[in-house]
Amino acid sequence: MERRKFVQLAAVGTGATLAGLKWLRAADAPAAVSTAATAPKGAPVALPISIAALATRDLDAMFDDMRSRAGVNVLFPFIYSHEPHRGGLPEKGFHGGNFAMPHLQYYHETPLTLTDMRAPEFGDVDVLAHVIPVAQKHGIRVFCFLLEDNVRPPLVPNWQALYEIDHHGRRADRHPGGPCYNNPHYQNFGLGLVEDYARSYAIGGIMWGSERQSGLLNALGLSQSPHQDPGRATCFCEFCAKRGRARGIDVERARAGFGAVEKFLLASRAGERPRDGYFTAFWRILLDHPEVLAWANLWVTSRHEFQASIYRRVKSVNPSLLVGWHAWHNMSFSPFQRAEESFAEMTAYSDFLRPAIYNNVAGTRFLSFVEGAQHGVFGDLTPEAILELLCQQQNYPHEARFDQLAAAGLSTDYVERETRRAVDDVAGSATQIWPGVDVDVPLVPGMTPLTPEAVGRAVTAAFRGQAQGIILSRNYVEMRPENLSGAGEALRRLGVI
Ligand SMILES: [Zn+2]
Repeated sequence: MERRKFVQLAAVGTGATLAGLKWLRAADAPAAVSTAATAPKGAPVALPISIAALATRDLDAMFDDMRSRAGVNVLFPFIYSHEPHRGGLPEKGFHGGNFAMPHLQYYHETPLTLTDMRAPEFGDVDVLAHVIPVAQKHGIRVFCFLLEDNVRPPLVPNWQALYEIDHHGRRADRHPGGPCYNNPHYQNFGLGLVEDYARSYAIGGIMWGSERQSGLLNALGLSQSPHQDPGRATCFCEFCAKRGRARGIDVERARAGFGAVEKFLLASRAGERPRDGYFTAFWRILLDHPEVLAWANLWVTSRHEFQASIYRRVKSVNPSLLVGWHAWHNMSFSPFQRAEESFAEMTAYSDFLRPAIYNNVAGTRFLSFVEGAQHGVFGDLTPEAILELLCQQQNYPHEARFDQLAAAGLSTDYVERETRRAVDDVAGSATQIWPGVDVDVPLVPGMTPLTPEAVGRAVTAAFRGQAQGIILSRNYVEMRPENLSGAGEALRRLGVI
């Protein structure tokens, strides 16, 4: 048992001591606000899955396995993706795209052709059409999971024109850049795609996801990719510039502000401490260039407007289809990105939300975030102190200390708190919270493998936080069968299945 009775976080790098503050592990001390787990019988128990499994395996046997182990009643195939791991195929020669059949009458004024969109990997097989009737027989509803690609599809040159432009005027064709939400060609494609799925298939709904944040936060290195280039922050394409001007933002002042942030970050990484300290230097950039904040707000609101338009398009076809959003794990580490993604404001266009709260892998991801954050905004602090500060800002009082976080992961108390926070955010609306819980998200060095009992505790914690459904994450084919069963045993104890 890896459980520790107490973890005392003391003598953090600044030399300060948190006198007498004992940080309990969640397994020993549930959150003070904890209530009994409540779980509606028949709540959504969802499972994402890569495409190769659906195209090549015996579906009856696989669905029987999901049902008997964990009562799965919702399936989320990565039905449109140009990324090999979501297709479940080797990288070499992978094209990907739509693993269902694009119906061209729904796509207007986009440069993408049928060949660009259609995934050729499984020949004539329309994976959605193939899967849905079998899933229905097993009591499983199929939702299309549309997770934006992090890299411009290398074999589809026509995607190029849909991608963002960084503040130096270069095409941003990989993470943290992506397709531009103000680019009408991307909008047309995205809206056509969801309309196509909604009209052509007996789906239960759509979950769309984009693991991105505003350009300012990317420039500041505030993500799990600690070494990303601050010169690649976006978006300064013609469409964003036009929208910016319409908002009264001086585009060139915004661009200059991003240049100042880039300079600040590069100097920080080179070990040059600003005379007045890092935080003051950062704040001074905002004072001198308030346009960068306005530009960040433009990016965030543009994305939310795009999401709202997806919602409206699906509902215009069939109001009973559910539309929900995957929320990037980075929100768990970054108070800055958390500010960008207000669940309360998203309720107007959300039937459900899936905050990614993968607690086991969260430890190493949090450390990566800290590594990026130790330059720039948090440059005045040691990594240990940054972690402690972020845990306090994000309201995680019971986590392992810096040198043990990778192995310990974040606690089940984190799962409960993040679920409850999301539930409280959407209170009074019809939006449901279906958190994404860690079931064997792939290990990286330093992590501890999950056990069925640990998975069961995380599932239970999500329902203690009043989840209304759950998404066992992140991919069926990555899960050890016994750990999926661990989730199922908890769901049975809770009365969900
Ligand atoms: Zn743009």
